[in-house]
Amino acid sequence: MTQGIYILLGSNLGDREKSLAKALGRIEGIEGLELVAASSVYISEAQDMQGENPSFLNQVIKADYDYSPGELLSALENIEIELGRTDKGKKSPRTIDLDILLFDDRTMETERLTIPHSELLNRPFAMVPLLQIDPDLIHPGTGKQVSEYLNDESQTEVILYKDYVARTV
Ligand code: ADP
Ligand code: MG
Repeated sequence: MTQGIYILLGSNLGDREKSLAKALGRIEGIEGLELVAASSVYISEAQDMQGENPSFLNQVIKADYDYSPGELLSALENIEIELGRTDKGKKSPRTIDLDILLFDDRTMETERLTIPHSELLNRPFAMVPLLQIDPDLIHPGTGKQVSEYLNDESQTEVILYKDYVARTV
């Protein structure tokens, strides 16, 4: 069964653009995953983190995926480790963070995984690239359009960094 999924890529340590590009390449290599679209790259100030932190680059990708949410998370965790992330679970700078935003129209809450991502609707840096790909997206938890959660004030916190044309492959 093929399911539509969305992943948020984030980096605020080292060569951030390179980390995003590398991660995207690895994501395309995940078994059972077919990349559908990638957003532009956006930049925003680090939030909720300890001390002074470099700003974040973020990008969202959309894909078709054949297996389970748990299998996808494991594949993403492997990529995080391959790209040198050592700070799992801590709110400190990271070379790469890969979060599952949405998994088809599923809602689930386990120790390992909350879907849709629990912070999606509070994070303009996730919603802005997501909505670039799919402006009319409905949040399966609330039944409302994701765009309703993005007000003018919060939009100004997220700035276009590199205007890759969102591509459909
Ligand atoms: P954060 O992404 O909040 O900065 P981490 O990447 O260290 O922090 O993830 C913390 C935990 O979040 C992971 O152990 C993972 O199991 C859990 N988690 C829960 N829901 C999700 C999700 N939708 N996508 C990715 N990780 C998730
Ligand atoms: Mg994460």
